[in-house]
Amino acid sequence: MKISDMYKEKKPVISFEVFPPNSAHSIETIYETVHELAKFKPDFISVTYGAGGSTRGKTVEIASLIKNKYNIESLAHLTCVGASKNEIDKIIEEYKINNIENILALRGDFPKEMSNFDKENGDFLYASDLTKYVKEKTNFSVAGAYYPETHMENNDLMDLFNLKTKVESGTDFLISQIFFDNEILYRFKEKTDKLGINIPFAAGIIPVTNAKQIKRITSLCGCSLPPKFKRILDKYEDKPEALMEAGIAYAIEQIIDLISWGIDGIHLYTMNKIDTTKKIMENIEHIREI
Ligand code: FAD
Repeated sequence: MKISDMYKEKKPVISFEVFPPNSAHSIETIYETVHELAKFKPDFISVTYGAGGSTRGKTVEIASLIKNKYNIESLAHLTCVGASKNEIDKIIEEYKINNIENILALRGDFPKEMSNFDKENGDFLYASDLTKYVKEKTNFSVAGAYYPETHMENNDLMDLFNLKTKVESGTDFLISQIFFDNEILYRFKEKTDKLGINIPFAAGIIPVTNAKQIKRITSLCGCSLPPKFKRILDKYEDKPEALMEAGIAYAIEQIIDLISWGIDGIHLYTMNKIDTTKKIMENIEHIREI
């Protein structure tokens, strides 16, 4: 099924993100994770794609497992930075062979070792180029990323206009970067409404379960920490069990508020953690069905 059709049929659409295990862990670890996550009946599960195609085979394998073994729709991420049309064609073909019909089209971050020449001489400069290309060549449903607090490389206004271009190139629905202050997303949505961007928006939520993780994430994505959240971090930074409880409670509160507000979808960055996901899903069991 096309995920774009799902958004027409229900609200909120509940989805998870998983990532392929790194070389320190065997591929079997993700089989177990997917098996457990499937029990929470997400509407779809997305699978990340390593920068420059580093996880390509694993992304296809995991997306295929989700779709063909568990009968849950999968959304395969695909980045285009530095890629040729030929390379993208091959990946699209692999997705088709595996019955995958939904992709998240991304530019990707530039790998540190990539030269300016390589950055500018791939066949795609932006996610919108990839979206247009995939839409022309396939019948896939295509998602795009959005940034409630602005993408790091740009200012607020330019980023909004670029998002509009991305949507006009064929994006069917959008998934956000993580954020911890729902009001920021609501203000962002007012702006996109004014620009006439009216495709489904999913909110990307991450349960913070350790202090080191949050420092790394905020430095990578530039999202801000509201005072309420900072107080939690300050108080429980050195008490891992307490921080985990507080982080899960915070994510649940964020999700309930977003659903009450009328968000089209909740996309949970599971970090491949079964227990955390379980606690969240148990707390929105009925809320997600209303
Ligand atoms: P784009 O939409 O192309 O935007 C990138 C920058 O270019 C922005 O600043 C934008 O304003 C600007 N821009 C866009 N179009 C134009 C234009 N026409 N002219 C001038 N400027 C323009 N990374 C991975 O490597 N693998 C993953 O699996 C992955 N999954 C992700 C999932 C989600 C939901 C999100 C939010 C991010 C994910 N990322 C992933 C990270 C993402 O690749 C980076 O944030 C990357 O820097 C931007 O990708 P994008 O697709 O948003 O790029």
